Amino acid sequence: MTIRHVLQEGIFSLKEHSDTPFLDAAVLLAEVLNTTKEKVITAFPEEISHEDLFIFRNFLEKRKSGIPVSYIRKKKEFWSLQFFVDERVLVPRPDTELLVETALELAGACTETCTLHDLCTGSGCVAISLKYSLPLLSVSASDISADAGDVFAVNCGRILGFQLPFYQSDLLSKVPGVFDIITANPPYLTTQEAGVMAGDGWPEPRAALDGGPGGLDFLAAIIQKAPERLNAGGILLLEACPERMIFLHRIMSESGFSDITVKKDLAGRDRVIKGTKAG
Ligand code: GLN
Repeated sequence: MTIRHVLQEGIFSLKEHSDTPFLDAAVLLAEVLNTTKEKVITAFPEEISHEDLFIFRNFLEKRKSGIPVSYIRKKKEFWSLQFFVDERVLVPRPDTELLVETALELAGACTETCTLHDLCTGSGCVAISLKYSLPLLSVSASDISADAGDVFAVNCGRILGFQLPFYQSDLLSKVPGVFDIITANPPYLTTQEAGVMAGDGWPEPRAALDGGPGGLDFLAAIIQKAPERLNAGGILLLEACPERMIFLHRIMSESGFSDITVKKDLAGRDRVIKGTKAG
């Protein structure tokens, strides 16, 4: 069988199971062949080995059962870096690059070494991308999940070649120190929204998505606790749902933050909110 035929088979078999059957099949085939999806297309006339065909069909079965491509490949590109991911953590979303970009602008402007803590770090995509991009930045991270801590350690080792401080902690409760910047992409869907995803068979950890009945439980708790853990003039940066920015704005100003601004993601939706602790 040629690569072209195998790809066609993949697209056809994923049609009913994915919104992006071509992309999914091409990425999975590229994974099997240890190449890029672009090269898969240029290799159309070549024959595929029996072993590779077997692995590809196994990947297709997994995808058909609802497992996301990133969990099948055990990796996800984020900030042009390759993160290890599995069912223990949320798959990094492109939207979250806005959080990294904003933190980088702020931390890059620090004259001396800045300290940054990333809450609800999961795979570590925010913390590790920031450390990778700004080696002088002092970065630590935390997550309530010990499993996430294990994935975080794998990513520190693979991407940075060394470990960043990690605390298994319910938000800031067990995290020592005071910081110039606190970042977080906490669970911010409503329980109902997270329930719909779970009901559809979505396998990401529910605890990484469910932000309580209004989706604001973790965001509000972080906003209320952050001022005592920020230096004067320190900055809190949160990723959140566009629909709930108005409430966050209010909670932030009630908690003493000033210069509150909201940034839009690539789709033009409010995605990151920033507040400054009074100096
Ligand atoms: N952006 C994610 C989603 O829409 C939610 C991430 C989160 O709750 N932190 O699936």
